[in-house]
Amino acid sequence: MMIIMKSNATPQQTEAVIASVKEAGLNVHLSQGVEATIIGAIGETHSIPLERFEGMDGVDVVQRITKPYKLASRQFHPEDSLVPLDGFHVGGEDIAVIAGPCSVEGRSQILETAQAVKEAGASALRGGVFKPRTSPYSFQGLGEEGLELLAEAREKTGLPIVAEIMSQVQVDVMVKYVDVLQVGARNMQNFNLLRAIGETRTAVLLKRGLSASVEELLMSAEYILAGGNNRVMLCERGIRTFETSTRNTTDINAIPVLKSLTHLPVILDPSHSTGYSEFVAAIARAGVAAGADGLIVEVHPDPAKAVSDGRQSLKPEAFAAMVKQVGQIAQVMGRKLATVQGEYSKNGWA
Ligand code: PEP
Ligand code: MN
Repeated sequence: MMIIMKSNATPQQTEAVIASVKEAGLNVHLSQGVEATIIGAIGETHSIPLERFEGMDGVDVVQRITKPYKLASRQFHPEDSLVPLDGFHVGGEDIAVIAGPCSVEGRSQILETAQAVKEAGASALRGGVFKPRTSPYSFQGLGEEGLELLAEAREKTGLPIVAEIMSQVQVDVMVKYVDVLQVGARNMQNFNLLRAIGETRTAVLLKRGLSASVEELLMSAEYILAGGNNRVMLCERGIRTFETSTRNTTDINAIPVLKSLTHLPVILDPSHSTGYSEFVAAIARAGVAAGADGLIVEVHPDPAKAVSDGRQSLKPEAFAAMVKQVGQIAQVMGRKLATVQGEYSKNGWA
């Protein structure tokens, strides 16, 4: 941390800041130039707020040199993190393709979709059972019954399952069933939920908030990591902009930006980021070309009848075509699509 003193700061004011830095348990590196005096505060500065020094007499500006998120940063952990899912890892060479309906609607819908996405080359199955709907009158999800159906689909296909958790009261039931806890865009800054998930050791897919900055996303990841759960994947799912021709605007920039700032795997959701099925494959290809470690894509056997997000859901055939294209882009990038290795049984993966 760097504390820059005002040009007219008195020696007493500088001394007082130095004393305060030492009191915070930090070492001091003093640089007295002609124009300005700069006090370098060296040590564990992550937990020390800038305001601690900003309000002191004679202080002009206080700046961090290291990132405010430590555990999530590449500075702290230069190598890519791999998140193990049964059968394969997310991150590294493999590109994960998570696919399935927005919501689990019923037995035949989820089993049919699971089989279709598996055959097309998906490496995990998604399906919401607790749905964050804008209207309280919209379908809210099947709850635990939906989790039972996802578990049945996993048993039949071997695909690990990804489902959204909306509240910390759902932690126990979700951890019992799912392989990946999805934290939705609307809950990215539900700090109590993030802390509760940090206490588990279940993998997490943390989605970027609708109007959250990349730094805010990383600070949210930090909450989970700080609890000791290091199986965190980040997800770009489009942000709100002035553009209305798509549901959201895919922030493709965020992919290489995140990859440079953090060691955590980065997944792209081209379904929510575009909102229209006809644009999903193009943006999926762009995401893999930009360096994404995986995709999460909505697929429904009959999108017109979907209870949520039908307009952006791919039919299984369109999904299969997308996977082929994405596989080719992956090859160009020196990567390949992940394949689930084990057969799932009640005792876990073989
Ligand atoms: C979803 O994945 O269906 C979903 C609700 O996504 P988001 O939180 O990104 O809107
Ligand atoms: Mn959805």
